[in-house]
Amino acid sequence: MSKIISIFNQKGGVGKTTTNVNLCAALALNGKSVLSIDIDPQGNSTSGFGIEKNKLEYTIYDVLVEDYDINRVIHKTEICNLDLVPANIQLAGAEIELTNTKYREKTLDEKIQSILKKYDYIIIDCPPSLGLLSLNALTASNTVLIPIQCEYYSLEGVSQLMDTVKLVRRNLNPNLEIEGVVLNMFDGRTNLSIQVVEEVKKYFRDKVYRTVIPRNIRLAEAPSFGQPIMVYDEKSKGSEAYLKLSEEFIKNN
Ligand code: ADP
Ligand code: MG
Repeated sequence: MSKIISIFNQKGGVGKTTTNVNLCAALALNGKSVLSIDIDPQGNSTSGFGIEKNKLEYTIYDVLVEDYDINRVIHKTEICNLDLVPANIQLAGAEIELTNTKYREKTLDEKIQSILKKYDYIIIDCPPSLGLLSLNALTASNTVLIPIQCEYYSLEGVSQLMDTVKLVRRNLNPNLEIEGVVLNMFDGRTNLSIQVVEEVKKYFRDKVYRTVIPRNIRLAEAPSFGQPIMVYDEKSKGSEAYLKLSEEFIKNN
């Protein structure tokens, strides 16, 4: 059976998409079969994998709103064993269109049942909000992977994030667990980064990955080439870090 993981943090710009693209790629390069589902209308993971989001005939929108079979929307990526269900701006409408549906938070869960034997991991890149799209992702998931940016305000949203996880447990998905917390944009030269790591470890304890993702310009450049970091610059610090993270991730599973 596939394990389903949502990459979630309602804060924008913390590294959800960067982690989705590069962790999925690293897991696939480690021999795992992976499906990445982009459920953010910004479609950044979609373009990050080199797929032209504005030329797509079908996307996750058609699965959620038009009741398409998810198999019709699965794209191959450049990396062997790594598939993608893409998204684009059309998905912004789903938040409203799903509102009147009876099992509106459970739509994604229902739609992925048919592919649960196909992959080792199904990883969902959430939008930076607590809306219906994120709720669909969390309801469909076994675990949540939380990226946290090493900056001053990073812990501010954490209690709200945990409230959402608890709310989902109470009402929609009682078995939802924390997969892990990944610290991103770490800069070892600053006391701030080191302080944030300590604070986050106090809060999440052994859920924090030992691997931290450094601030690395190559990670920021790779999306404009539509490539995961291991393809764009295999030797970069960013690539090394995500490969290490994938090993830690696999060990935990
Ligand atoms: P989110 O999906 O949470 O909104 P992104 O993954 O899109 O966040 O990251 C926000 C921005 O920061 C992007 O431009 C991305 O390229 C950049 N970024 C993310 N992680 C790193 C990193 N470790 N080093 C350098 N730039 C990064
Ligand atoms: Mg994103």
